Amino acid sequence: MPKLTSRLGHLASEVKAFVAARATLAPLRALTASAVDLAFPPAADAEHYPSGIPSANWSKIRFLADEGCDMCARPFLGGLHFGRDALCSACAEKPFPFVRGRAACLYDDASRGIILGFKHGDRLDYAPMLVRWLERAGADLWPHADAIVPVPLHVSRLRKRRYNQAAELARPLARKLRRDYLPDMLIRTRATKPQANSPEARWENVRTAFALQPGAKVAGRRIVLVDDVFTTGATLRACARVLLEGGAAQVTVAVLARVVSGNPEL
Ligand SMILES: [Zn+2]
Repeated sequence: MPKLTSRLGHLASEVKAFVAARATLAPLRALTASAVDLAFPPAADAEHYPSGIPSANWSKIRFLADEGCDMCARPFLGGLHFGRDALCSACAEKPFPFVRGRAACLYDDASRGIILGFKHGDRLDYAPMLVRWLERAGADLWPHADAIVPVPLHVSRLRKRRYNQAAELARPLARKLRRDYLPDMLIRTRATKPQANSPEARWENVRTAFALQPGAKVAGRRIVLVDDVFTTGATLRACARVLLEGGAAQVTVAVLARVVSGNPEL
């Protein structure tokens, strides 16, 4: 039986690789990959990694489990574990408007290729695996969530990129967890510069860039905001603030990867 399972897993990978090589539309590739997942449920993660990533990278990815700051998911120095409710000094001094934040892994040399491939490289075939990462990372958030909202892209960037990577995570996640999926609740009212370096510059860049969709029914809802990467948290702060001002009962955050510049938090 293990031999058969392995052969089925191999066959599924072959089908996905065949489609990935030929399908010109990213959404078509993702759709087919999901269909293959359905037809050949993965026996184990190891057999289910998408093709095209050096296998050595998988073992080096640092999954964050439940270590780190309860609010911004920044890991503590040396992987120390201070308990689920522990805050880092930055969050203790200046809390985010969201109450809790979870990140699946550290953004580093091992995970960068996967995250960037998913974000900019049309590797939507990574989505089923990344959704499982997010599901695990946010395990304690889902029981207290009514709805899942992806961080929106500005329409000009969406047109260029053709898909919103946060939505490609949030949609299957909401379906899997049977939560409301609300991709239109937030709108990006202006295009922001792709990168700004300092936390202050990032905040200035995004603080007025989001609004509630007119007529959005946010009042009383407990919302999980989903994005791919948490850098300074400026975007998530701006989105959470808009949701809370609109009457959301609670906002929490789940991201794929946490960027930690310099040393981890002491
Ligand atoms: Zn923190």
